[in-house]
Amino acid sequence: MLYDDESELTRYIWNNHEPHMTDFERRVGRAILARQKAAAVEGEAMKRTLSKRWGLVGDPEVDSALSAGPEPFRRSVGKRILLECGDAIVNRCPRCRRVIRTPRARQCLWCGHDWHKADPSMETMTTSVSPERLTE
Ligand SMILES: [Zn+2]
Repeated sequence: MLYDDESELTRYIWNNHEPHMTDFERRVGRAILARQKAAAVEGEAMKRTLSKRWGLVGDPEVDSALSAGPEPFRRSVGKRILLECGDAIVNRCPRCRRVIRTPRARQCLWCGHDWHKADPSMETMTTSVSPERLTE
């Protein structure tokens, strides 16, 4: 599998940072999915419903956001969020610096590096609550 930092960043942000998106960006994101589904589905009636109702085909704002295709739109949203929030929101492999699947993943699918046990202090912070906390 070929690694492309920009498309991995785009995927990562769309999968993990939806809260940073505007309502419009989320709306267009859902429209992209519906349009892709519409293109793949059998049957004209189903295609029409998916395209119009969920894909928002004919909505001038959405159509213009997607005039260059879904990927340029997804990338520009990713770039905006990165500029606003900084690189710290991206989980990268400590060894190869590539983008990891999720914010909490501790294994790199690109180079195979696994750092589950590398930092025990981080481990307890994220996975366990002390008994005293529970009885408070
Ligand atoms: Zn790696």
